[in-house]
Formats: sequence, C-alpha cells, structure tokens
Amino acid sequence: MRMECQVCGNDYDKPLIIEYEGDEYVFDCFECAVDELAPDCGTCGVRIIGHGNEVDGEMYCCANCAAQAGHGEIRDRA
Ligand SMILES: [Zn+2]
Ligand SMILES: [Zn+2]
Repeated sequence: MRMECQVCGNDYDKPLIIEYEGDEYVFDCFECAVDELAPDCGTCGVRIIGHGNEVDGEMYCCANCAAQAGHGEIRDRA
C-alpha cells in the first residue's frame, strides 16, 4: 500500500497512519508526524514530544515554562 505523506509529499510504501482527535493523518516518518501533530510549548516554543503540561488549553514543555506563563501551580512529576 503506497500512500503520500501529507507533510512532505513523499510517496512511501510503509506509511504511518495516525488517528488523532477523529481525523486520520498519513505520514512517511515520525519526524513528519511530530512536525504536524506535536504541540509547541507556550513559553519557549520547543516541540513537545512527551506528555507535556496542559494548562487552560495551552501546552508547556515543563513546569518551569508553565510557571513563567503564570501557572505556578503545575509541578513536574518526579
Ligand atoms: Zn513526510
Ligand atoms: Zn518550554
């Protein structure tokens, strides 16, 4: 089965098909999937590949960034 990556347009025979929030996405590699789907930290702009910290609909890479945005109550899990 060949499918075209929707980020870079690469035609690949082992595509990653990801269902996310009711939509279906097709990628040729994880890098493209991350590029399309991973949120950015609301403070430093870093790509959040792990769980991140979601506060009021904003994503932050760590508790420190959440605190800088005024969400001091968030703690990283040790
Ligand atoms: Zn791609
Ligand atoms: Zn951050």
